[in-house]
Amino acid sequence: MRFTPSLKIFSIFLASVVFVGATQQRATSNPGEDPVATEVPDSSIFLRQQMRPAGPAEQTYSSRVDALLAKMTLREKIGQMTQLQIGMIADGKGQSITINPAKLEKAVAQYGVGSILNVDDEALPVNRWHEIINQIQAAAAKTRLHIPVLYGIDSIHGANYIREATLFPQPVAMAATWNPALALRASQITAAETRAASIPWNFSPVLDIGRQPLWPRLYETYGEDPVLAKTMGVAVVRGYEGTDVSGSTSVAVSLKHYVGYSGPLSGRDRTPALIPEITLRQYYFPTFRAAVDAGAHTVMVNSSDVNGVPGHANKYLLTDVLRGEMHFKGLVVSDWEDIKSVAARHQAAANEKEATRIAVMAGIDMSMVPSDYSFSDLLYQLVQEHKVPMSRIDEAVRRVLSMKFALGLFEHPAPDPHSQAAVGTAASRQISLQAARESITLLKNESGMLPLRKNTRVLITGPAADSLVPLNNGWTYMWQGANAALYPKDRPTLRGAVSEKIGPANVIYVPGSGFDRVIDTSKVTEAAAQADAIILALGEDSYAETPGNIDDLTLSAPQLQLAQAAVATGKPVILVLVEGRPRIISSIAGRIPAILMAYNPSNEGGQAIADVLFGDCNPSGKLPFTYPRHTNALINYDHKRYETEEQPFSQEGSKPQFDFGTGLSYTTFAYSNLAATPAKVSSGQNIKVSVAVKNTGQREGKEVVELYLSDLAASITPPGRRLVRFGKIDLKPDESRTLSFTITPEDLSFIGADLKPTIEPGDFEVSVGGLHASFTLAPAQAGSKRVLR
Ligand code: BGC
Repeated sequence: MRFTPSLKIFSIFLASVVFVGATQQRATSNPGEDPVATEVPDSSIFLRQQMRPAGPAEQTYSSRVDALLAKMTLREKIGQMTQLQIGMIADGKGQSITINPAKLEKAVAQYGVGSILNVDDEALPVNRWHEIINQIQAAAAKTRLHIPVLYGIDSIHGANYIREATLFPQPVAMAATWNPALALRASQITAAETRAASIPWNFSPVLDIGRQPLWPRLYETYGEDPVLAKTMGVAVVRGYEGTDVSGSTSVAVSLKHYVGYSGPLSGRDRTPALIPEITLRQYYFPTFRAAVDAGAHTVMVNSSDVNGVPGHANKYLLTDVLRGEMHFKGLVVSDWEDIKSVAARHQAAANEKEATRIAVMAGIDMSMVPSDYSFSDLLYQLVQEHKVPMSRIDEAVRRVLSMKFALGLFEHPAPDPHSQAAVGTAASRQISLQAARESITLLKNESGMLPLRKNTRVLITGPAADSLVPLNNGWTYMWQGANAALYPKDRPTLRGAVSEKIGPANVIYVPGSGFDRVIDTSKVTEAAAQADAIILALGEDSYAETPGNIDDLTLSAPQLQLAQAAVATGKPVILVLVEGRPRIISSIAGRIPAILMAYNPSNEGGQAIADVLFGDCNPSGKLPFTYPRHTNALINYDHKRYETEEQPFSQEGSKPQFDFGTGLSYTTFAYSNLAATPAKVSSGQNIKVSVAVKNTGQREGKEVVELYLSDLAASITPPGRRLVRFGKIDLKPDESRTLSFTITPEDLSFIGADLKPTIEPGDFEVSVGGLHASFTLAPAQAGSKRVLR
């Protein structure tokens, strides 16, 4: 039976989630208890499930799919492959949107459109969603075959297109928590709140690897490291899809944007990437592969091109690799207008009809057209002209119908009027607050400048100090997230949260500068005379996708000017960075004693930052990307050793401003007794790595234990180090724990010159918390190498 072993492994997984929660309780409940534990579940627990758990099982509906397919006309089939945006069936924008019956009739009855997406302009309340979905499904119910419509939406950091929903820190901030159990919980809430609006399909998570810091979608990723990103990604897929994707609290995911989208050479969105296949396989595939293994139901395609082939025309990647190698069985949907783009933008086809043929034959099952009927009309002609075979159409439609059955849409197409779905509850907000607190990363804290005492008189200044917009960034109540009027009125900005904590009398606020304009820095100089310290909240205004393109990674000039003015006052400055990507701060960082990276922590972020600043929360976030020092010294942490050791950059340039995995605490941790056993490993054998961690400071704190591996000689020049495992623990003062990790042969592998995972014998080193240990992998037979799948 397919699901028996799966459920067993899944329960181990859930036990690990409970464990993480239990760690936190344990810290307060049993102060006298012997603190030494031998096993802490490490990050790999989230990846140890080689099954597809998000039922229902395909065999429960496959005969119904066959029966339906057999009755369908070509028009009806092509309709199912078509996805339109909501404006194609509605009039009006924002809150005044209303379904236009004539437009709806054309889409659903005449064209048999299979899917509709997103909002026109703004987030809507749950009851408005119910009205809309009811009308759409009522129209579908009147069609010849009564096939329900599949509604899809971008719930990127919470159900951000549902007015009352719980919003969470943006994904890169979730990655900074290094806490996959928390990411899983947040995505369970997001799924439940999305489904509460009767929307069963979420275009999330972004599993593009975030290795290009200029890229405006970096904040939607889980950072630059494949192990961290795939662990978080799998946790999120589990959270969204649950054990049964038809359930009333689950949604189907869409892994996006397959693949290579995040590596544009120029850093600008939707521009070409040049990524050798060896690099694609080493860095860009693993997140997608792991999420496919975890049962993800849909995949969305890269809008750009990789090595000259548009994502939507790339049969090799979409069919040979995704289906043939990764064994993906679900639905592949295009991105926005991107079949048209194969001709219109990429000039890889002479016209839209040819682009449609290329994309469908490459493996696209559904086109996010989304604003006309060209796809349906052109594909109809192509089939009539035998340029696209009916077998390809049937394959695509079978996948669309399977999704609809898997989601339970045939049984429950419309909202349940009796369901009392809880959206945006106080309990969910608490999880968001916990995530924001755990994400905040203390990058610098000279002479214990932080936490501040609560009787400190502070001057707060900077464009991120008094607005919820930068705390959230794009995909917040609308695409660009820029309309402050849509944000909740009862969440404090950073200024508000600090005032609440230390009393308004202790807070002076001066705007200082906008994100891109000087306001009045002389006021800062004046006001600083009355303050003990300056909290300087700088960063980025909200953006999403292409509008977030920048020419320079350096923080904007007006903000740097404000920082200089703040430093010149002689008062200690605490820099709080509210930004979706690491904007360069090297001209000011040296003169600022404390730096806190807040990312985009969302609506509870003002509170969370204030909690960290004043010591009500001990920070435990770690950078999920490298924070560069100079614009022309962009380098990922897992670069080759000689790239920086032989100083091809200036000596300073080879050091990032802050390294991947950096994050300080208000306590200190001491690492000891690192051991890797056995010292001589035979091929196929696991290696046990153990290390003791002790809280040697004065307060309780969480620590992310990062285990890196270095291959000391390999036929493909190896990275200096790469993350293979991590685990997050909570220790009281004087408490210590021993963590033990199991490194498998697969962890030792890299993509070889033949593009296959390869293990080569030789010496390896592991490093944890500044300690090193080594082991030697013996050859399987003299001179041989072992190749994995
Ligand atoms: C984005 C996708 C998104 C889609 C629908 C596109 O522009 O690239 O990430 O899912 O729009 O909103």
